[in-house]
Amino acid sequence: MTLDLSKFAAEKGIKYFMISYTDLFGGQRAKLVPAEAIADMQKGGAGFAGFATWFDLTPAHPDLFAVPDASSVIQLPWKRDVAWVAADCVMEDQPVEQAPRVVLKKLIAEAASEGLRVKTGVEPEFFLISPDGAKISDEYDTAEKPCYDQQAVMRRYDVIAEICDYMLELGWKPYQNDHEDANGQFEMNWEYDDALQTADKHSFFKFMVKSVAEKHGLRATFMPKPFKGLTGNGCHAHISVWDLDGKINAFADKAMPFGLSAKGKTFLGGIMKHASALAAVTNPTVNSYKRINAPRTISGATWAPNTVTWTGNNRTHMVRVPGPGRFELRLPDGAVNPYLLQAIIIAAGLSGVRSKADPGPHHDIDMYREGHKVTDAPKLPLNLLDALREYEKDAELQQALGVEFSKAYLKLKQGEWNSYCSQFTAWEHQTTLDV
Ligand code: ADP
Ligand code: MG
Ligand code: MG
Ligand code: MG
Ligand code: MG
Repeated sequence: MTLDLSKFAAEKGIKYFMISYTDLFGGQRAKLVPAEAIADMQKGGAGFAGFATWFDLTPAHPDLFAVPDASSVIQLPWKRDVAWVAADCVMEDQPVEQAPRVVLKKLIAEAASEGLRVKTGVEPEFFLISPDGAKISDEYDTAEKPCYDQQAVMRRYDVIAEICDYMLELGWKPYQNDHEDANGQFEMNWEYDDALQTADKHSFFKFMVKSVAEKHGLRATFMPKPFKGLTGNGCHAHISVWDLDGKINAFADKAMPFGLSAKGKTFLGGIMKHASALAAVTNPTVNSYKRINAPRTISGATWAPNTVTWTGNNRTHMVRVPGPGRFELRLPDGAVNPYLLQAIIIAAGLSGVRSKADPGPHHDIDMYREGHKVTDAPKLPLNLLDALREYEKDAELQQALGVEFSKAYLKLKQGEWNSYCSQFTAWEHQTTLDV
């Protein structure tokens, strides 16, 4: 039974619905619709000019309609007059093929047709900074190793506890909050869920963190590497695959090394095989490549990978198997599009399951110190252009995410790279003036 948003508004005292969709660059776009008008919008959607957002559409295209998925609705805990609802994009009664939530739903259906149900948890790290974006908001937060800093996390208690209280209220089962490895950086963890639910929560979490930070006169950023020399914002994804009832974890097998089943290993094999290409989605900005492949940070480690390797409970590799029945992909960063993150994991994983891919040997070494000893594993792309070229070469992944999506994504991201290349930097002047 579909939830009637109009009734929901009457019950909860909601005055406005925020009908929200996510474009290809991960931007969340919304219209505020009064509750009086939601009944019609629930059927037909809210109209948008697609060209005005990142979709690779033209000004001549017909209206794009964002049709709310009522099951995703959330009354904003910090502004109870308003409810957020994730929407699916439709044009002339057809799904917009390149819309990230549409792409993800297609891949979830494909996984289901193979009897697989993907459940994931994400760890979106963020910094609390000054409103102008120039510096860390807490001037006392200067330790060389600030991870788990008790004093520093308490100086931000009002912000962190407010967000965590909201997650408790929403039933997300949050279980821990900490100061992370960079000055000004935090992480909040809640329980894993089905891929679509995790993507919706991940989107909403970013919106919530930014909103609550602004309420407290601060600013939150998920930028992959906002400050030179400090650890960047990762967005690790923990992945497991279940039967369609969600009862039996198909990745769990205590008899296997690290407790990862044969099926889990083939899924992982797909991730390993497509890693360089999927970086175009998991690490989608120019800045992303200053987090991975980075030199050692002030704290002593970047905590980000540089090579396509996997291992057991060891945080120096691209994939870590922290315990039985799941693995952690440590590649994605804070700029990742929440829907495309889940979609590309499923696409690569399914490819692995279907081809019975072998993830190759696990390397149980400290990759930061001994990485040079690994000669049989590819290095991750060094910049966005290399990643886009890898994606361009990966016909299987392009097909899995959809031809329309892949074409639009490559075009828009190549445009972003070209825009970056047209910049003249102070560094160029410094190093090239006297040639
Ligand atoms: P770490 O920092 O050690 O990588 P966290 O506790 O910060 O781990 O985050 C772990 C994430 O993995 C959480 O979102 C958690 O719910 C999720 N998770 C735990 N078990 C599973 C599982 N079986 N499948 C998918 N995600 C899981
Ligand atoms: Mg108008
Ligand atoms: Mg964590
Ligand atoms: Mg972390
Ligand atoms: Mg992690």
